[in-house]
Amino acid sequence: LFLAFEGGEGAGKSTQVRLLTEELAGRGRAVRATFEPGDTPAGTVVRQLLLDRADLALSPRAEALLYAADRAQHVDAVLRPALAAGEVVVTDRYVDSSLAYQGAGRAIPREEVAALSRWATGGLVPDLTVLLDLPPVTGLARARGRAAADRMEAESLEFHERVRATFRELAAAEPHRYLVLDATLPADDLAAAIRARVAALLDP
Ligand code: C5P
Repeated sequence: LFLAFEGGEGAGKSTQVRLLTEELAGRGRAVRATFEPGDTPAGTVVRQLLLDRADLALSPRAEALLYAADRAQHVDAVLRPALAAGEVVVTDRYVDSSLAYQGAGRAIPREEVAALSRWATGGLVPDLTVLLDLPPVTGLARARGRAAADRMEAESLEFHERVRATFRELAAAEPHRYLVLDATLPADDLAAAIRARVAALLDP
């Protein structure tokens, strides 16, 4: 089972990934928590280029290709092997983040980012994507004090509004494959909703 978490900064993705994987592991499931960009040795280097080197002034297409390279490595080295081993795989960010940030955010046509992502992933699509939906101003307030807040403030509020709108459009287009949650709700309530949906997928 392949699960992805998406949403803007401060939405609580990493908390929910942790709560879900702890819960599944506690029930004896083999589970693998992972993230993009950067959860492979090559990805660690790519993540530094993408997030810590503003001085490189990467162009939008160069940036999109680096995210795609990170994802291809992630799919080949982590996601497919873990899925083949029967693990529940939970990723913090996946293709939708590229459609939102590189697509809507950086104004690359969405279909171009989608085609690049299809190639990078070999067509691997999550069984379920959990969208933690949050107004960007709320996310920014929550992320304050963390690196995510600095990254967020490097872009306009309008950029983050486009990102959010894209996540919501993607979810609306495939309602059966998404769980959209109001990320302003308490973490425990969100965790319970996610747990219930995942349990239904594991034991239909
Ligand atoms: O999820 P995390 O906070 O680690 O993401 C790091 C940053 O990378 C995000 O703040 C986002 O701005 C950026 N990102 C991106 N495009 C992606 C994935 C992440 O711009 N496809």
